[in-house]
Amino acid sequence: AKEDIRNSYQFFKEDMNVHITEFVLLERHLFRALDRGEFVIHYQPYYDLKGMIPSGVEALLRWNSEDIGFVFPSRFIPVLESTGLIVKVGEWLLGEVCETIKRIEKPVSVNISPVQFKDKTFPKRVEQVLERHGVDGSFLTLEITESTLMEDVEFAQRSLKRLKSLGVKVAIDDFGTGYSSLAYLKFLPVDFLKIDVSFVREIDTDPDDRAIVNAIIQLAKNLGLRTIAEGIESEEHLQILKELGCDFGQGYFLGKPMPEGEVMRVLGL
Ligand code: C2E
Ligand code: CA
Ligand code: CA
Ligand code: CA
Repeated sequence: AKEDIRNSYQFFKEDMNVHITEFVLLERHLFRALDRGEFVIHYQPYYDLKGMIPSGVEALLRWNSEDIGFVFPSRFIPVLESTGLIVKVGEWLLGEVCETIKRIEKPVSVNISPVQFKDKTFPKRVEQVLERHGVDGSFLTLEITESTLMEDVEFAQRSLKRLKSLGVKVAIDDFGTGYSSLAYLKFLPVDFLKIDVSFVREIDTDPDDRAIVNAIIQLAKNLGLRTIAEGIESEEHLQILKELGCDFGQGYFLGKPMPEGEVMRVLGL
């Protein structure tokens, strides 16, 4: 593990100049992207692993720039965050997702950036979007990363309580990758733990990963939370997660992120 860290640091240092120029380039085009209608939302189904029934979808942002082409979220989302543009884009996305919920009548999960969550008015904004679109909050799940929640646990607790009062569900995204203490789970009203792809990738060959995932699932069960595993890429991944008692699963083996029309067919609509 030590070697990995050293390598990635070196890579980062050498890549700094590229990063800075790329950042400025992306920033320039991102400022106009929303008005130009360059953002699209793809939906990836997640399955109830007991009956292998598609139960809901995760909304994933896509940017196809007219000028620079398709850009991966891992590149442009950090730029949206550090420019603050994520607030406007995030609100647009929530509105679009509300319209999708009305058409598919299934739960939709939305990724919430730390920049959005840190804003005191965030729960109010969510309430307003739901009201404006006439959508029942129980159809919406907010995916918030462990590190975002841990930054200020008391603040997170207050915000989550207000969101829960709207009927909205909350998933801890990238669970297990952030924090060393689990005590905070006691104080936060959450519904799902989302098991990170990094634990799933080698679950069929690495006993350590299997042990970690098993521990997360048992912990969730004891706390009355449900688990979703992401990054299921093979039959082997799927079988092991079923055996371990994971509730829901998501990944290329089950269904890739796709346009709304396609995901409706997957959902049998
Ligand atoms: P995430 O929330 O962990 O989302 C899961 C990522 O894993 C997605 O990448 C998804 O396409 C990818 N994935 C799905 N199945 C598999 C699989 O079987 N194997 C592997 N290796 N990957 C799989 P994507 O769409 O590129 O998004 C990357 C990240 O960007 C997301 O990670 C999330 O943190 C962020 N993101 C995406 N959309 C939004 C958004 O609307 N708002 C915010 N704030 N962040 C977003
Ligand atoms: Ca997510
Ligand atoms: Ca993840
Ligand atoms: Ca290992």
